[in-house]
Amino acid sequence: MATKLLLAFAICRLILTVGLTLKPKELLHLGFDGQLSVDPADVDYASKDFGLLTRVEPLAVFHPSSSLDVARLVKAAYWSDQGFTVSARGHGHSINGQAQTPNGVVVQMSGNGIGPRPRVRAGDMYVDLWGGELWIDVLRSTLEYGLAPKSWTDYLHLSVGGTLSNAGISGQAFNHGPQISNVHELDVVTGKGELVTCSEEQNSELFHAVLGGLGQFGIITRARISLEPAPQRMRWIRVLYSNFSAFTRDQEYLISLNGSQKFDYVEGFVIVDEGLINNWRSSFFSPRNPVKISSLGSNNGGVLYCLEVTKNYYESTAASVDQEVEVLLKKLNFIPASVFTTDLPYVDFLDRVHKSELKLRSKGLWEVPHPWLNLFVPKSKIDDFNRGVFKGILGNKRTSGPILIYPMNKNKWDERSSAVMPDEEVFYLVAFLRSALDNGEESQSLEYLSNQNLQILRFCDDDGIKVKQYLPHYATQEEWREHLGSKWDRFHKMKAKYDPRHILASGQQIFTPTFLTSSNTASW
Ligand code: FAD
Repeated sequence: MATKLLLAFAICRLILTVGLTLKPKELLHLGFDGQLSVDPADVDYASKDFGLLTRVEPLAVFHPSSSLDVARLVKAAYWSDQGFTVSARGHGHSINGQAQTPNGVVVQMSGNGIGPRPRVRAGDMYVDLWGGELWIDVLRSTLEYGLAPKSWTDYLHLSVGGTLSNAGISGQAFNHGPQISNVHELDVVTGKGELVTCSEEQNSELFHAVLGGLGQFGIITRARISLEPAPQRMRWIRVLYSNFSAFTRDQEYLISLNGSQKFDYVEGFVIVDEGLINNWRSSFFSPRNPVKISSLGSNNGGVLYCLEVTKNYYESTAASVDQEVEVLLKKLNFIPASVFTTDLPYVDFLDRVHKSELKLRSKGLWEVPHPWLNLFVPKSKIDDFNRGVFKGILGNKRTSGPILIYPMNKNKWDERSSAVMPDEEVFYLVAFLRSALDNGEESQSLEYLSNQNLQILRFCDDDGIKVKQYLPHYATQEEWREHLGSKWDRFHKMKAKYDPRHILASGQQIFTPTFLTSSNTASW
């Protein structure tokens, strides 16, 4: 009874605000099993994201219990005379309000007890997942069968639907492609409220559009993900470079290797300053290390580059892992005596960033603004980027967050997906994962870091470095058109077909909901 009353209240609020023409009774008859909530705590939670740069209040938050629930809600939005927006929210780890929506309904896809549990089909090497499932829970479920997905993100407390709407990348992407290259099938609720199963063979147009589609064409309620036998342990190795060209040459060499004689994970990062906030992602340079990192960078304006690789193994292959690592390292040109090795269970490696999260949280350094900038930089311009950005704009200043840099092979990405990458066979992810701190240091302030991001983008523009933003953020359709390039026409066509009223994921600011009058659109 209490649930019904709350639901009726939420519906009345929707009606009052957006002029929904459905009668409350009719919405009640839609028979949601989930819960439509206007609880201020729920609304507040859905108004924020990891970036803490924007705050946008929805009218209500919907906690669905099934795909059908999601479909009923979107259908109600689609058929209502005046319309209202609906945004799926996974774990809200976006930076710029991508999962938020003003005066609409946020569908909270992730959370305890929401959606069905993962179903592993060990014989067929796949798992069926609820769209709001967090990758850490996916890993736990598949490990019960000795299996695991092949392609990851560095941090696992992100939702399946959230990363598949972008790409989902980490150090395995050079080998297995991004997470969107490892999906067999999806269930999607389109912007018309239709629940559609899609794959390479069935409704393939929708399948490809949704992968990397920034939530524009449908809400992913189920994803079928490819699995492999889970490694048991891994050697995790880091080596340092002061010479950028040697560093990138070695990274590119490692991602060009085929067959089994290669590393399983290749990443890297720029070291300007080793401190908790500056490098929270990576803290295993232990005091037992034979060299002092700061002394190595002294000839290079304080800038060092760290290559990070892993070799997976099973207890049955443990005897040969050292030799395999040695053979591979012998081909590289890092600073001698800068090899840092550790060995740990597979799960501990994959969940490594969560440990850093807990450390930062305990110091009040996690829930701070994050003006992150992620760029895909074409290989041919990575030297120019180093000169202009790492050594130029950033110089020898404190970075207030990790700066990742690693290459990927474009042939592992499916051109038919909506994801956008540069026009070269090899491109780098360069990720400025910086935190803004209100500690009186100008170079760590939100304003300073945001301006520096603009400076980096301007430098690339002026220097003809054709970067593409990953987890893109733009305010005008003109910029989106430019970002999507040759994919724009299809993107636009797919939007008209699958979400004609522009109900979904309006927080991406690509399409204005068609039911908003011009006076309402000013804030979009
Ligand atoms: P949300 O922020 O909740 O949503 C993101 C977008 O996806 C929104 O537009 C939303 O409407 C849409 N969406 C959410 N769920 C669905 C769904 N079920 N169906 C359709 N659309 C949906 N990314 C990487 O690729 N690699 C990394 O290593 C990596 N590391 C990260 C580490 C941290 C600490 C953080 C904060 C982010 C990281 N990211 C990384 C970025 C992350 O992948 C994206 O921000 C992703 O969107 C987060 O997932 P989420 O569930 O929090 O999405």
